Order: sequence, then C-alpha cells, then structure tokens
Amino acid sequence: MKHLYSILIALTLNSATITTHAAESTIPQQKQVSGYYQYQAGDVQITALFDGTNFMSPSLFKDIPQQQVHEILKKYYADQEKGVQTSVNAFLVNTGKSLVLVDSGAASCFGAHLGSVLTNLKASGYQPEQVDTILLTHLHPDHVCGISKDGVANFPNAIVYVSDDEAKYWLDPKQAAKLPKDKQANYSGTVEKIKQAIAPYQTKQGFKTYKLGDDIQGFKVINTAGHTPGHFSYALKTKGENVVFIGDIVHSHTVQFDKPETAIEYDIDPKKAVQTRLKQFANFAKNGQTIAAPHLPFPGIGHIYSQDGKSYQWMPIHFKD
Ligand SMILES: [Zn+2]
Repeated sequence: MKHLYSILIALTLNSATITTHAAESTIPQQKQVSGYYQYQAGDVQITALFDGTNFMSPSLFKDIPQQQVHEILKKYYADQEKGVQTSVNAFLVNTGKSLVLVDSGAASCFGAHLGSVLTNLKASGYQPEQVDTILLTHLHPDHVCGISKDGVANFPNAIVYVSDDEAKYWLDPKQAAKLPKDKQANYSGTVEKIKQAIAPYQTKQGFKTYKLGDDIQGFKVINTAGHTPGHFSYALKTKGENVVFIGDIVHSHTVQFDKPETAIEYDIDPKKAVQTRLKQFANFAKNGQTIAAPHLPFPGIGHIYSQDGKSYQWMPIHFKD
C-alpha cells in the first residue's frame, strides 16, 4: 500500500512537471528571412520580391456557391482563419542589358501588411537606382503604388510603362461619368492613388504607354484584358525558357485553378476575365511556359498543368540554392 501511494505521488508530480514545462515552452515566433527569391531562367535572372500577404474574403469569388468555395479551400489546406491567404509579389528581371521591375506592390496604399517590395529589392543586393524599366500589368494600387513614396519616385532612373487602354481607362477625366453611379466613388479613390504614384514619373517624361505588337526591352506585350480594361501580360524569351509575367489573370491557386471559370469581385469585366484565364491557362498548360504571378503563393513562379483541360493545377518551382 505504501508502495502504491508513492507511485501515485510520483505520477502526480510527474504530470505536474510536464504541465508546467508545456506552459513555459511557448516557442517565440521567429522573424522570417527577407522576402526575395532568385530564379535563373536561361540567361536571365528573375528575383521574386515579396510585398506582403493579403487576406481575401471567400465571398469575393463570384457565381460559385460559398459551400463549394469552402470545400475547395479545405481540400487544399488553405488557411482560412483570417480569410484566403494571398501573396502580393513583384518581379525584378535582370536581362543582362536591362534591369526591369514587373509590377511594384502596394506600398502604403492598402495598409502596413503590404509594402515590402522596396526593402526586399535592396535586401536582394540591387539598388532602386539601377532599375531602368518598370512594366505594369495594370494600374490597380497593389501593382502601381510601389513605384513612389510621398510624391517621390522610388526608382528615379526608370521609365514606367503601361498599356494605352489601361492609361485611358484610369486617367481619362470623362471615364468616371461613364460608370454606374455605385461604382464611381470606388473608381475615383483608385484613380487618386494611381495619379499620386505616377506623378513623379510624368513630370520627367518617365511615364509611357504601349500598344499591342510593341516590344519593351525584349518583353512581348500580350493583351489579357478583363480584370481591367487594359490589362496586359509580358512574355520574355530566354535561352531555353519562355517566361510569362501574367499579372492578375488569376488570384487564387486553389479556387480559380480547380474552377477556372470563377471570377473575382476585383474583375472589372468578370466575363472577359474568365475568358482570358481559360484561354491563357489552356495555352500555358499546352506550351509549358514558366509563369511568374503576382498573387500566387510567393515566390509565385511555377507551371500550370491540366490533366483534363477543364481544371488546372499550380506546380510551384522547387527551392534551389
Ligand atoms: Zn492585384
């Protein structure tokens, strides 16, 4: 009996020790390494730059039952605690002749959770003064705001390019009146952010537009309108590899790959945005281009695969040291 009693005491003490230990051993959260990733594509070096993480509401997906959205997110183990985790990425491309930034992140246009592109660019070993060309896929603030800060150009030696159609849509003063009343306030708010971002480039003739068929520093422009009226992607042929900087033809590596016919609230012309995605995804799955995407999980570089031509899979590149 005495023996059993001492075992009980020992057990009690032991479990008490474990409990205390567990309470004390909360592991402090470590800071991540800088958000840049270098990828060699043939004779070209691409540095993916992380701007931050956005959490999208699952209700932003259009014309799909919410139940189905949640089923897909669950299937992909997508973190839904704060919304759908979505990266914001930009890409710095060293072609050997030119240093080109494709999109630029949100800077302070959407809050403190975004805006790390400039810091990560410097951390990657480059200086903003070295950037000579900026290619914007479109003028939404999470792509354009990063080019300047408080009216000063972040990339003082760069020429900024956007499509003619895109510039017209956002910068034509008559455009707002053409929109439905309920969309006008949102449109005007976005226009203000765009104007502020591009102003320092405009004053020194550093803001230019292009048309289909143009080529900028070896990048071929591809019309991928729908998400915005002048949305363009950029294709770059390197030695042995074709890379396409797709912009916002897709926002989700889960829902919009499983069900590519799903539009998102941010699409200005949802029907056209879906048509564009279906057309481009079919092309990428067939031809195997390397994809660089601003809203797929960082670094947002990989390939698009389809088994049946209806649904798709995102194949991210492997980490390579
Ligand atoms: Zn975007």
